[in-house]
Amino acid sequence: MDWNLLTCGIRGHISYAPEEPGPRERLHAISAAGDAWRCLRCGTFVPGAPSASGPAAEAPAVRRGKELRSAFILRLFAVERFLRAIIVAVIAYVAWRFKYSQHSIEQAFNRELPVVRTLLRSLGFNVDHSKLIGLIQHAFTLNPRTLTWLAVAAAAYALIEILEATGLWLLKRWGEYFAMVATSIGIPYEIYDLTAKITVLRVVFFAVNVALVVYLVLTKRLFGARGGKKAYDARLRSESIMDSALAALEKPGPTAEQAAEDGADAPAQKTDRPASTADVPASGTAHAGGTAHGPVSPGWPAPGRQR
Ligand SMILES: [Zn+2]
Repeated sequence: MDWNLLTCGIRGHISYAPEEPGPRERLHAISAAGDAWRCLRCGTFVPGAPSASGPAAEAPAVRRGKELRSAFILRLFAVERFLRAIIVAVIAYVAWRFKYSQHSIEQAFNRELPVVRTLLRSLGFNVDHSKLIGLIQHAFTLNPRTLTWLAVAAAAYALIEILEATGLWLLKRWGEYFAMVATSIGIPYEIYDLTAKITVLRVVFFAVNVALVVYLVLTKRLFGARGGKKAYDARLRSESIMDSALAALEKPGPTAEQAAEDGADAPAQKTDRPASTADVPASGTAHAGGTAHGPVSPGWPAPGRQR
């Protein structure tokens, strides 16, 4: 799946016209429809005005390829954490309420239960064999002190899950570290839980948590894994279209103006292969960048090269 094209299809292209003539030359093309600017995400030359313009250094940092897939996966984890937080917050609230009004709730429960039982039985569900009802009845037998601790622990857990969900959803580095550390701390307890009794829910929670920790450490290179932040940032830079355009200019070779006079762009300066039109914004090919499949010069990554 091409995440760049998919994202551009949903959110639209992001083109940027740098003020500096060098990178400007590289991100600009004349198409049959007039001016076209290279999308910083999918690499397509989009006819029309650029989305924004300014100094090259202020170009938006655009997530591409693997980063888009990673953002999607992290947000799935964020949603899962958020759902956990809601469930646990409800438990905390109920435990807190029980502590003060154990009797009234118990009475209400006993008063309403026959009605609920009849209602559910008509739907073919036997309440008397329900685990949930058993749990609720068990909660009535807990003393207020136990309920207080249960409420405090549940509230703390819900708070941690909300922080994890927020950090992961915003795709922040601190969120990745926080989610990784907080989840890791819970894993020994989950293993202990599994040795006590194996249930489907416990296995699923455990698997999700282990998957998140492994995924974060490996793909986000936390704690120096696989080269750490340095290697991670370097990979992001190597995938950035704007950074590639700037890096290519620093290399010895014809200037952008000379390249323009030759009627070709950056890839033509590589003399060891014929100048390919596949990845050159030649006139009339508004989508030249999006169809590049041939050899690519180091300073000019074709979109989706990582696939
Ligand atoms: Zn695009």
